[in-house]
Amino acid sequence: MSATTADQEAMLRDIIEEVAVTRHEIGKAALDQRVMAAMAKVPRERFVGTYDRYRAFVNGPLPIGYGQTISQPYIVALMSDLLQPRADSVVLEIGTGSGYQAAVLGELVQQVYSIEIISALASAAAERLQELGYDNVTVRHGDGYQGWPEHAPFDGIIVTAAAPHIPPPLVEQLKPGARLVIPVGEPGGIQELMLVEKRADGSVSRRGILMVAFVPLTRAQR
Ligand code: SAH
Repeated sequence: MSATTADQEAMLRDIIEEVAVTRHEIGKAALDQRVMAAMAKVPRERFVGTYDRYRAFVNGPLPIGYGQTISQPYIVALMSDLLQPRADSVVLEIGTGSGYQAAVLGELVQQVYSIEIISALASAAAERLQELGYDNVTVRHGDGYQGWPEHAPFDGIIVTAAAPHIPPPLVEQLKPGARLVIPVGEPGGIQELMLVEKRADGSVSRRGILMVAFVPLTRAQR
């Protein structure tokens, strides 16, 4: 069984509803229209296993193999919104996974660089993104803790795995005025989605947005 347009529309309604319910935490009652348009455009069913396609648009995470998950649509939309993507932005993602978040960003910015630590996931995502025509998304296999210095500094960085602390190399690789969106906390424990901003003078501010549950940021390459 396959997902339908009605399923995708239901996903968009679920995102709108969850944004409204969490408006006090996230500080807004609705997400950026460009972000919602990107969520409407990316075919999420292509980023999950064929056996999961019928539920690709359910507002929850789904398994993508190797013990990893594609994040809940609401979280993907929220993190994209928090990044304040512009059409001319160059952004970095840590934790490519299925490539779904990278595709959503690919709809919103000029160039996406994405790093995945599990080699098989990195190559599957790169192939999938190419098939779908996301020529502005570049995936590489490696440990994202160190960022991607060759392409730095970035207009925004998004981390889709929970880190025990904010990796200093990522803060280093932000342009002045740019944002880092990252879940911080222990695996299976309390995690908070953090918004880190590098101000024009180079100083850094951080703010907790929402309690979340992500798979851990790991360090050994596989
Ligand atoms: N953004 C993904 C969801 C990713 S789940 C999507 O849209 O599908 C988190 C991913 O982070 C997993 O695939 C995991 O293997 C990867 N990961 C964990 N630690 C990492 C690290 N140090 N560097 C890069 N990727 C990492």
